[in-house]
Amino acid sequence: MSTQHNVILLGGPGAGKGTQAERIVADLRLPHISTGEMLRAAVAKGTRMGLEAQKYMGSGALVPDEVVIGVVRERLAEPDAADGFLLDGFPRTIPQAEQLDAMLAEAGRAVTHVVLIDVPADELVQRIAGRRSCAGCGKLYNVTFDPPKADGVCDVCGRELVQRADDNEDTVRNRIAVYEDQTAPLIGYYTERGVLESALGGGKLPDEVYARVQQILAD
Ligand SMILES: [Zn+2]
Repeated sequence: MSTQHNVILLGGPGAGKGTQAERIVADLRLPHISTGEMLRAAVAKGTRMGLEAQKYMGSGALVPDEVVIGVVRERLAEPDAADGFLLDGFPRTIPQAEQLDAMLAEAGRAVTHVVLIDVPADELVQRIAGRRSCAGCGKLYNVTFDPPKADGVCDVCGRELVQRADDNEDTVRNRIAVYEDQTAPLIGYYTERGVLESALGGGKLPDEVYARVQQILAD
């Protein structure tokens, strides 16, 4: 059981969780289980919990805890998750974390690593609020970290750069506040259980963060 990687990835919006997740699952050959994708897959397969989730998703409502937990339970019972998994976007609350522990314990398993990609809120705001994309060719820029040669103009095709409506600073600060409210209790929960470690992502490139993530997962 010590060879299992039953991993949870935590990190705020813009922390670069997606990039780290891709590399972890490729290197450790783990299934990448993200809540959104899992719900969509369960709906597509028409599983019992998928049909339940569909009632809520169809109307744009938040899928209730017991349904999300049921979908996770079904997904973790699939053969590819028998020796490990990377969970992304779940759990979000203490009750979800407790339910996850309980369902793993039934199979003689436990969460082995919780990796927190820890980036200061101000940097998350800079990263997200600085995102721009070209209205012509779609190339992505960041006004702070990866600016175009001329302000507001695409290097490649010369068209205007635009910002997504929900990437403005107020919206981003609100998304970060929601994340911090939700995640702070989980950090305490997993710290108490001795499974949480942080990869400091402030001012770091994805490669540097990943070097630390590899160290954490090697233990
Ligand atoms: Zn362009």
